[in-house]
Amino acid sequence: MNDKLRELTASPMLLAPNRVWRMYKGGAMIDRLRGFADPKDSEFPEEWVGSTVQASNPGTHFRTGEGLAVISANLHEPVSIKTIIERYPEEVLGPQHVKAHGTSSALLVKLLDAAERLIIHAHPTKAFAKEHLNSCFGKTEAWFVLETRPEVEDPYILIAFKEEVSRSRYRQMLDEQSVDEMIGVMHRVPVKAGDVVYVKAGLPHAIGEGIFLVELQEPTDYSVILERSCALYQFTEEESFLGLSKELTLSNLDHRVYTPQEVQNELVIKPHVLRREGTSTETRLLGYETTECFAGYRLEIDGEFSDTTDGRYCVLVTLGGEGTLVHAHGELAMNPGTEVFLPSAVGRFFYRSNRRLSIFKCLPAQA
Ligand SMILES: [Zn+2]
Repeated sequence: MNDKLRELTASPMLLAPNRVWRMYKGGAMIDRLRGFADPKDSEFPEEWVGSTVQASNPGTHFRTGEGLAVISANLHEPVSIKTIIERYPEEVLGPQHVKAHGTSSALLVKLLDAAERLIIHAHPTKAFAKEHLNSCFGKTEAWFVLETRPEVEDPYILIAFKEEVSRSRYRQMLDEQSVDEMIGVMHRVPVKAGDVVYVKAGLPHAIGEGIFLVELQEPTDYSVILERSCALYQFTEEESFLGLSKELTLSNLDHRVYTPQEVQNELVIKPHVLRREGTSTETRLLGYETTECFAGYRLEIDGEFSDTTDGRYCVLVTLGGEGTLVHAHGELAMNPGTEVFLPSAVGRFFYRSNRRLSIFKCLPAQA
């Protein structure tokens, strides 16, 4: 088995589907991307791509191993990416990465399709997580909107405070669960396909209904639950504050007041085309200029387009078209919904499209 595992680290790994239970409904768009005959919303609205993170669903919804991505093609039994990394960290993650982050993948990638508005929540900063949660990672995240549902007229997200909200006033809103008031003090930002939103750890936020996106995050599942009632679950106060005292956890909440212009300048990120070859393009959607936590790129490919792992690993999600990924040891078919974990040891490779390939490429925390 060990030799077989080591051999695997030299080639791109085809990820098995990995849907995760959440406390809201959605997921039909993920089904549709995959080409399912009957796409439908369910309690599995998220796909965790290449994940090494255990989902920490509340109460009786906790399942050991949920969230961990596996590969299964050509293997006697499935093996998790986490296991392969722990066995061969340098081959998979790259030496620089291991130096900086040990055997952590330092990234969590999700496809998230919200049929309904998500609850208002926030995430711990790195500093808070280090001090109080014994974790090197908090949960800064970013949203890359792929599509919005046609029946939703004004797709939007909620983020950051738009007016001065004292800690005592917010505490009162939470205690009373005055959701309208909580929404009223936040920016409501219209979004459309192609938009990129940077969600700094500590900021209150929520994704509106009808939004299908790629989400990049620090590799944890820590959430501070501000709005406790959602469609499929009612959080207790105990479950809402990371197992810490309410005062302590709420001290992590970022009360900075953003003007609409500041939201547009600092939290809505403008894509930047890095490379054009004929009609193919590589676009940086959000890079290390914005955060050291992760980076997201979009590749649109006609014909052949070269690429390299460049000493680090990456995760690919095919969003459209049809083609192959050609590497030193063979080829891998790329169709809508195909997810690939590319170990650092792969080195140079190229894409070949039969029908304009659209690929989302995710890189982990800067090393
Ligand atoms: Zn969040």
